[in-house]
Amino acid sequence: MKISIAHLYPKLLNLYGDMGNVITLKKRCQWRGIEVDFEEVNSGDKIKEHDLYFIGGGQDKQQEEVKDELLSNKSELQAQSKDGAVFLGICGGYQLFGHYYQPHDKDKLEGISIMDAYTVAGNKRFIGNVTVKTDFLTPNTLVGFENHSGLTYLQGGTKPLGIVRVGNGNNGKDGFEGARFHNVFGTYLHGSLLPKNPHFADYLIELALEKRYGEKVKLEPLDDNIELAAHNSVICKSY
Ligand code: GLN
Repeated sequence: MKISIAHLYPKLLNLYGDMGNVITLKKRCQWRGIEVDFEEVNSGDKIKEHDLYFIGGGQDKQQEEVKDELLSNKSELQAQSKDGAVFLGICGGYQLFGHYYQPHDKDKLEGISIMDAYTVAGNKRFIGNVTVKTDFLTPNTLVGFENHSGLTYLQGGTKPLGIVRVGNGNNGKDGFEGARFHNVFGTYLHGSLLPKNPHFADYLIELALEKRYGEKVKLEPLDDNIELAAHNSVICKSY
């Protein structure tokens, strides 16, 4: 089997080593003998069809540059999301999946609207460990580290990844963390996210393979003792 993965704008949005998510996705495919077609997409590149797209987080300044790049590829990205491609956006990248991100005293950053959400800058930064309870993964938790001032609000058919058990999540008010609309996923969890959440990495890989081959794929389990020990160690931490 084969999977094609695009890493969007790693030179601009890669805060807190978010590229660890791409390394995890590639390794967990290669360990299973799944061939990976990998493409790094940088400023000026035309975005092509892929099974899975990843974009990391970054400060408002880098988001401004990436916003223009994403908007110039908006119709392709919207078509890909409608066609079932998997998207994972972390923090700043997540914010640009929605309709807009309104920073403090700066122009609104238009997003690509592949999920029904919007973000406005808050008055404080949320910084610390986060534990989220989910209803679609086993184990039913996601862990990571948040550092954002943006407050994200979900609308319509866009649902959260889960409920915050420790930390703030999307906006520190509604108790939600992250977002999902069809196969488009966003989250505030840095860390990077997937090395300590191997079950979520496999979930995304299975969705991307299903998109490519048109049928459900169940991955062979890997020995995730170390990864899950790291996962559980974060669950015990709090702010
Ligand atoms: N600039 C955005 C915010 O502060 C995103 C930050 C990030 O990607 N960590 O909310």
